[in-house]
This record gives sequence, structure tokens and C-alpha cells, in this order.
Amino acid sequence: MRYERLTSPEIARLDPEQTLFLLPLGAVEQHGAHMPIGTDSIISHAVCTAAADKHGATVVLPPPWYGFSPHHMRFAGSITLGAETLTALVTDIVGSLVAQGGRRILLVNGHGGNGSLVDLLSSTLGRAHYGKARIAGVTYFRLAAADIDRIRESEPGGTGHAGEFETSVMLHLRPDLVDQQQADTVYPDPGSPYLTTDLTGASAVATYRDFADLSPTGVLGDPSLASAEKGERFFVAAAAALHRFMEDFAQWPIQTRTP
Ligand SMILES: [Zn+2]
Repeated sequence: MRYERLTSPEIARLDPEQTLFLLPLGAVEQHGAHMPIGTDSIISHAVCTAAADKHGATVVLPPPWYGFSPHHMRFAGSITLGAETLTALVTDIVGSLVAQGGRRILLVNGHGGNGSLVDLLSSTLGRAHYGKARIAGVTYFRLAAADIDRIRESEPGGTGHAGEFETSVMLHLRPDLVDQQQADTVYPDPGSPYLTTDLTGASAVATYRDFADLSPTGVLGDPSLASAEKGERFFVAAAAALHRFMEDFAQWPIQTRTP
């Protein structure tokens, strides 16, 4: 179910104990010369709707589109919210859902730059609504990292940003918005063994990295390895990984506040 398509009485009839509310988060930022600015929000919304179809009793909220993208601002077209703006926006959306009886709310992030704010929001909103609702945040490609690594062909660094993974998924979802003729392969040097530019890589270290310093075109990875067929496999794996988590999250207790 897509929230924006329901009527107010239909939403009022949802079972608050059972219904999962998914809020897709993404970004409006450069994705090289071959993919559109809205890529992250398009993909995270599509992963949410596919996982919701499997789970049932799930409502997918309209994505707020914009995210936290200061590291992309040297490329034309990128739009960033301030960290305080994004956290305020999500806080207000979740607060509205909880005020109307929402009990299980999942932030589904599809943009690396939002990650630390999603962690922060999961913690602050979880505390604010403790005893009334359960809030969790996931980044869908991290949830599906093992599956993505099984399907990918690129070396580490090949699925960073607008690389093999995202380009394949967009060729599956919206081939009309991808121009593979314009795709450019860049394996960036992360600059330190403690850092990675790969979507499925994990680093214990946080630091600011401006994408214009990492790649002249804004691409981090190898879109030349992308295909629609591979994109379907990536997408199915990502939706399945999110669905598996939703099955678990739906069972998490909502603690009762004790004095
Ligand atoms: Zn992206």
C-alpha cells in the first residue's frame, strides 16, 4: 500500500498493532553523466514497495526525496538539506505517525550520506516514542551487502556511487532514465587502508570526503559492468533482504514504560 494513495478513513482503519510504516529516504544528487539526480530516492522507494508487497500489512510513505549530500555539492544539480533540516523533517513525519497511532516505523535509507543521520534518528526517535512505538533505521544496500557481493563482478570500489550496482538496478527499474553511452568508470583511491568507497565495504572510520576529490565525473565504480538482468537480481535480493528484516522487526516488542 502506498500511503499517498490511501484515503484518510482507509488509514484510520489500519490495524496499529500489525501495520509497518516504511519511510524511504534517498537523495537528490549527481549520479554521473549517465543517471538521474533522483536515483537514490527512486531506488529506495522501489525496494520499499517490493518488500511491502511480500510482507502485507505495510504502508510505504512518500519519500521526502532530498537527503544529506554536502559531499556532492561541487557537481551541478545536487541539492542538500542541512543535517538539522533532514533530522527535523524525519522527526516531524515520524511524530505525526506516532500521534495517530503508528506503532512500527522503519526508516529505509538508500543513500550513504544519510547513514549517520539515520542512526541518530533511530536512537533519538526511539527514545522519544519509547513505550508507544518501535522505530528502526536500515540502509537497504547494507542489509543486502552479502547478496550484492555474491552477484557483483566488480572489484572492491566498483559499486561505490553510480557504479555496477546502482546502474544495474536503474537499468532494471527505469532504463528510460539511464544512458550507458555516457557511463564512465572510475576506481577511486580511497587514500587510506582504513577507508573504502564501496557500498558494501565497511569502515570503522568516519571522515568527510568530497566526491569531487575522489572522482572527476562523480562516479565511484564501474557502471560498464551493469546490466538490466543483473539489476533485477540485485533488486530482488535487496527487496528480499528488507523483507526478511521486516518479518523480524514486526515481532519486536514495544516496551511498556515503567516508572
Ligand atoms: Zn546513489
